[in-house]
Amino acid sequence: MIEFRQVTKRYDSDHTALRQVNFHLGRGELAFLTGHSGAGKSTLLKLIMVMERPTAGEVVVGGQRLNSLPKRQIPYIRRHIGVVFQNHQLLFDRTVFDNVAMPLEVMGVAPRDIGRRVRAALDKVGLLSKEKMNPMQLSGGEQQRVGIARAVVNKPPVLLADEPTGNLDPQLSADIMQLFTEFSQVGVTVLIATHDIALINKMGRRRLTLDHGELIAGGSAPVGGGLN
Ligand code: ADP
Ligand code: ADP
Repeated sequence: MIEFRQVTKRYDSDHTALRQVNFHLGRGELAFLTGHSGAGKSTLLKLIMVMERPTAGEVVVGGQRLNSLPKRQIPYIRRHIGVVFQNHQLLFDRTVFDNVAMPLEVMGVAPRDIGRRVRAALDKVGLLSKEKMNPMQLSGGEQQRVGIARAVVNKPPVLLADEPTGNLDPQLSADIMQLFTEFSQVGVTVLIATHDIALINKMGRRRLTLDHGELIAGGSAPVGGGLN
């Protein structure tokens, strides 16, 4: 579902953010992305979201080679990728329901389908009873779950999360991880960037480790090449 083939990203000539990264994440796989600050985690996520383009190598998402993707097709690719942020980026001038509905409205989904889909997503994260509330009235963990409902409301095959538990205590973090696990069980490929080593160890899932732009663990050998 997500594949990096010998991907290198340089922002400028003397600084390499990612160096010949190879990995493949299958359908329904859940993995962590870790590494020190500046290791290249955000860059890797941005390449998947086509917010950046690789300097060399190839990124493939859902069978689509992103390198050759025309600009006008980028919005369509992004619809297949749900994104969860640490600071959840909810809008406090509208209800929980309207926050979750936003991606569907952008896509032009019919209003009656919006209602059904939003409630299905809120139900999944256990917040159906709070649809009319303002996100400001919710706890931090609940706000993060609204962010997750919004990320999955159009049922993307890929879910990316950047430090999704950064502000949460261990119990709430475990709840959020449980949700991600459930999405992976229905076939969603989930990649979670985090510094939270305790959480990663507890989950016992695949872990991609970046060190100064190199994938030093959890990757795969390049196609046709030796071990890396
Ligand atoms: P992480 O998310 O692991 O902290 P990043 O992917 O943000 O790492 O950064 C990797 C490297 O690329 C860092 O050295 C950072 O300074 C550099 N970098 C990130 N974004 C840009 C940019 N837009 N322009 C130039 N350099 C960047
Ligand atoms: P539909 O829209 O097809 O009538 P639902 O919205 O209730 O049905 O979704 C059906 C099920 O599909 C959900 O309960 C969920 O478990 C699963 N599912 C499949 N893909 C995803 C995804 N990307 N995100 C969340 N759930 C998904």
